[in-house]
Amino acid sequence: MSKALILEEPRVLRVESREVPEPGRGEIRVRIAHGGICGSDLHYFLHGGFGKVRMQSQMVLGHEICGIVEAVGEGVDPARVGQKVAVNPSLPCGVCDECRAGAERFCTDMRFMGSAMRNPPIEGGFRDHVICTEAQGVPFEGAALEEAALAEPLAVCLHAVAQAGDLTGNRVLITGFGPIGALCLLAARHAGAAEIVVTDVADVPLELARKLGADKAINTMQPGALDAETEGRGQIDVSLECSAHPAAIADVIAATKPRGTVVQVGMLGSETTAPLTHVVTKELGYRGTFRFDVEFAQAVALIASRAIDVRPLISGHYTLEEADAAFEVAQDRSRSMKVLFDL
Ligand code: ZN
Repeated sequence: MSKALILEEPRVLRVESREVPEPGRGEIRVRIAHGGICGSDLHYFLHGGFGKVRMQSQMVLGHEICGIVEAVGEGVDPARVGQKVAVNPSLPCGVCDECRAGAERFCTDMRFMGSAMRNPPIEGGFRDHVICTEAQGVPFEGAALEEAALAEPLAVCLHAVAQAGDLTGNRVLITGFGPIGALCLLAARHAGAAEIVVTDVADVPLELARKLGADKAINTMQPGALDAETEGRGQIDVSLECSAHPAAIADVIAATKPRGTVVQVGMLGSETTAPLTHVVTKELGYRGTFRFDVEFAQAVALIASRAIDVRPLISGHYTLEEADAAFEVAQDRSRSMKVLFDL
């Protein structure tokens, strides 16, 4: 049998027992080993969704998953059985205009695991067994498989950092130090950033930021704490805004120097306000970033080689039966960074 964690409605989780699924042609069955809880999973758990995306029926969450290939369908090399893989949760259609242009993340018919953007929702990975295409199972050659659960959020951050162009020698500001802010720090350093300033409103994540190599970690609850970076028209070359909080958006617009770049990584609400005057008068490039494409395979390789070491982010391990506790601790930034299910 095969267990799956079902979100029946907001805050109501239940473990269900199912038949073990069989892979079809070109597919593999992955015995999931670890799955990370993402901010979007928390939004579904707490509110049933975010923005206009609402769960219409029960769903299985989870899109940060890894495991071991357990069975292969017709046409797949049987030697893959036993292989460690990170599972890419994206399944673009491959034939729409966006896919043909090589921008699969904008696929008009995307099937993304653990998302209610379609109805019925695409099942996520908080379950014992996942069937996916063979290409979605990206081989992981690292020592500790659990680290591969961070490939998906790292891919998001590699894509975000890439929006800013070459970071070599740059001063970088990261606002909001949850798992995405933390992985942006590691990705920005890997991309050659010379100095990295991190801001948050809580001390515990700022301690981790220092441990991960932030040059400055500033609590913006203290008035004026960011002033040195905002002096004149701003001293920062590139800002990665990971909080989506209006105060942090104002901070990045103030701190980024003329003709600098702001990458909006945190997902904004539709009514978010911002001091856009300074985007105009400083000719800031204010860019969005959405998911990832080629960066998934890059993230898997960087984690496997520990060129980017994600181990300090992993803050807790829970079974599916402990899901209520896992979702509770994942909301508490004083006690958690990246919370994993072990299956
Ligand atoms: Zn497509």
